[in-house]
Amino acid sequence: MKVEEELKQIAQEVAVCTRCNLHYSRKKAVPGEGPANARILFIGEGPGFHENEQGRPFVGQAGKYLDELLGKIGMKRSDVFIANVVKCRPPGNRDPLPEELSACSEYLERQIQAINPRVIVTLGRYSMARFVPNAKISEIHGQSMQVKGRLVVAMYHPAAALHQGSLKPTLERDFSQLPQLIARAEQAPVYEDRPAEEKQQQPPKQLNLF
Ligand code: SF4
Repeated sequence: MKVEEELKQIAQEVAVCTRCNLHYSRKKAVPGEGPANARILFIGEGPGFHENEQGRPFVGQAGKYLDELLGKIGMKRSDVFIANVVKCRPPGNRDPLPEELSACSEYLERQIQAINPRVIVTLGRYSMARFVPNAKISEIHGQSMQVKGRLVVAMYHPAAALHQGSLKPTLERDFSQLPQLIARAEQAPVYEDRPAEEKQQQPPKQLNLF
């Protein structure tokens, strides 16, 4: 299956998913969006009020700030894929529960495998914990780690920086390192975790971020 088709298939499954209780309160599921050949994948936590209304990730104040952060490093939202660890809004924007994270995990894993990004940026504690369990974001933010051939960089969630202004310079400093990290990741051999027959169907990936 082509990457675009796989992403569409995942979005269709997410739209009608009843694997966890979050489906009871969702208005629109938020599977994530971005180009199928994105070299960078941002992973947030879960949809908020506006995302639940529109079915799109990061469309509220945190989304505007994310756009601003991307703009500061010469990137646009259309350059990157943006997803969340849970695809339906936790009521009242509460933290996702372990059983909800576990139920939704497979969708994100399939997105990662389909997009096969060189760099994954986790935004917030819950997406960080997926790759670096038991770490403290205050200790590892901005650091890059190799996870299955990809560079994973943990950062604070833009919403956290909006709530706590003192985190803004930290988040902006971490973002400013991204172009360098992406350039380094692009020079490394491509990591492929899709089956060989699927790889043969993929057109060459465009290195089009910079
Ligand atoms: S959060 Fe994930 S697992 Fe739960 S209902 Fe939504 S799509 Fe399904």
